[in-house]
Amino acid sequence: MAKIVVLGAGIAGHTTSTYLRKWLGKKHEVIVVSPNSKYQWVPSNIWVGVGRMKPEEVYFDLEPKYKKWGIDFKQAKATSIYPEGGSGHEKPFVKIEYVGQGKAGETEEVEYDFLVNATGPQLRFDKTEGLGPQNGNTVSVCSFDHAAHAWAELQKSIKKMEAGEKQDIVIGIGHPGATCQGAAFEYVLNVYHEIDRRGLSDLANITYITNEYEVGDFAMGGAYIKYGGYITPTKVFTESFFAEREILWIKRAGVYKVEKDKIHYENLKGEYKEIHYDFAMLIPAFSGPGIKAFDKQGEDITPKLFKPNGFMVVDADYTKKPYEEWKASDWPEVVQNPDYKNIFAPGIAFAPPHTISKPFTTPNGTTIVPAPPRTGMPSGVMGKIVAQNIRDVIKGKATLDKLKHKASMAKMGAACIVSAGYGMTNGMAATMTVFPIVQNWEKYPEFGRSLTYTMGEPGLAGHWLKWFMHYMFLHKAKGYPFWWLLPE
Ligand SMILES: Cc1cc2nc3c(=O)[nH]c(=O)nc-3n(C[C@H](O)[C@H](O)[C@H](O)COP(=O)(O)OP(=O)(O)OC[C@H]3O[C@@H](n4cnc5c(N)ncnc54)[C@H](O)[C@@H]3O)c2cc1C
Repeated sequence: MAKIVVLGAGIAGHTTSTYLRKWLGKKHEVIVVSPNSKYQWVPSNIWVGVGRMKPEEVYFDLEPKYKKWGIDFKQAKATSIYPEGGSGHEKPFVKIEYVGQGKAGETEEVEYDFLVNATGPQLRFDKTEGLGPQNGNTVSVCSFDHAAHAWAELQKSIKKMEAGEKQDIVIGIGHPGATCQGAAFEYVLNVYHEIDRRGLSDLANITYITNEYEVGDFAMGGAYIKYGGYITPTKVFTESFFAEREILWIKRAGVYKVEKDKIHYENLKGEYKEIHYDFAMLIPAFSGPGIKAFDKQGEDITPKLFKPNGFMVVDADYTKKPYEEWKASDWPEVVQNPDYKNIFAPGIAFAPPHTISKPFTTPNGTTIVPAPPRTGMPSGVMGKIVAQNIRDVIKGKATLDKLKHKASMAKMGAACIVSAGYGMTNGMAATMTVFPIVQNWEKYPEFGRSLTYTMGEPGLAGHWLKWFMHYMFLHKAKGYPFWWLLPE
C-alpha cells in the first residue's frame, strides 16, 4: 500500500490527486492538504474583478467531492517536511497545521511514501510597501475574494465617472521581479471594456505599468507570432491593443512603494518616479510557502529542498550563468527533487532555473525582470505527469531513478486566451499559442520558437472559447462525466 500526500489543491495539486485517485486502487491512500477549503478556477477571477461573474461561479467546496472520491482532505497548511523520517517515524512525514475542519491550530504529522508539493504562489504584498488589499492601498485579482473586493472598489470609481469626475486608473505589476503579466494585461483590457460600454472612457485615464522590458514580453521574453499572415512581435500585438483603446503604458518599471494615491517606481535609468491613481490593481511578488525541512537528526536541511525564495529544488540546472548561456535543457523535466526522489513539485511550486526574459539592472542595483510564468496549462500538464510517474513507480513499471513521463516547459507549448472584454456579442479575446514556452535557440535559432505553433488572433470567437473553457475546466475539476478526456 502506498500513501501519497499532495500539498495544495490548485490547478497542479488537484490534477495530480484526481488522476492518482482514478488510476490507483483503493488500497493506496491519496491525502490532500490545503488551507483553502475551495478549489478556484483562478483565470476567471478577472471576470469577478469586473462584476461579470460572482465569486461562487468560480469555486466549489473540495471536501464533499474528495469524500465522494475517496481522497482524504485535510484543511491545513504544510509547515515542515522530514524526508528521512525521525521523531519516532520510520517513514518520511510532513508536519501540517490545521486552519479549518474545527481543528484550527492543531498540528499533525502525516507520513508519506510520495510527496507532491503543489503549493503554488504565496502572494507577497509585503514585499512592496503599501501594496495589497489587506494592509495596503491597492486591489488584487489573484483570488476570488480579492477579485470581489476589486470589483467593489472599481464600482466606486465608475460612480465617480458617472458623476462627471475624471479617474486615474493604474493596472499592472507591483514589484520589480513579479510575474503574471498576462493576468494584469487581461484585467486592464476588461476594465477598459466595462468603462467604455458605459460610455465613460473619456473620463478614464488608464495606464498599464509593468516590469517588462517591452509590453508583450509576458515574462517569456516576448514572442514572434504568426498573426494575419505576418510574423509579428508580441510587443506590436500588445501595443496595438493599448493604442486602439488609448491605454497608456509605462514599461521597465520596478514598483517599490504605494501611497494612498501615488505609486512610486524606479525605471531602468535608475530614476525614481511616481504616478497618481484613484483605482489601482497591481500584482504582487510571489514566493513559496516558507516550508522548512529537517533530516532524521532534526538538522535544518531546508536548502536541499527549497531555494531562498521558497520554491522547491527540482531536476533543473541551477548553475549561475549569464543570459547568453541559458539553455532549454536548464529546465526541469520531471519536477523531482534530486536528493529526495519521492518528492515532486508541479506548477508554480518548483524553482525555475532562471528567468525566461532577459534581466536588466538599474544603476542603483535593482534588477527589473519578470519572474517566469507557470500558467494554468503547464501547471496542469506537470500535475498529470507527476501522477503518471508515481502511478508507474507504484505499479512497478518505472523506478524513481528512471521516470518516463516528462513535461519540460522548454519542450511543451501553452495556449492562453487573454480576455479583452466580456460579452456574448461584443466580447473580445486574444487567443495565443506559444511553442515551446521557454525559447529553444538551439532548435529554433531564428525566433527561439516554432512559428508553426506560435500564433495569435484577436476576436469575438476568442471570448466564446475563454467562456467555454471556464465551464470545461470546472467540469473537469468537479469530476463530472468523462472529465479525464478533457485536456489540461
Ligand atoms: C488573476 C489570474 C488570472 C490568470 N489567468 C490565467 C489564464 O487565463 N490562463 C492560464 O493558463 N493561467 C492563468 N493564471 C495562472 C494560473 O492561475 C496559475 O498558473 C495556476 O493557478 C498555478 O497552479 P498551481 O497549482 O501551481 O497554484 P495554485 O492554483 O495557486 O494552487 C496552490 C494551492 O496550494 C495551496 N497551498 C498554499 N500554501 C500551502 C501550504 N503551506 N500547504 C498546503 N497547501 C498550500 C493553496 O491553498 C492552493 O490550493 C492566472 C493567474 C491569476 C492570478
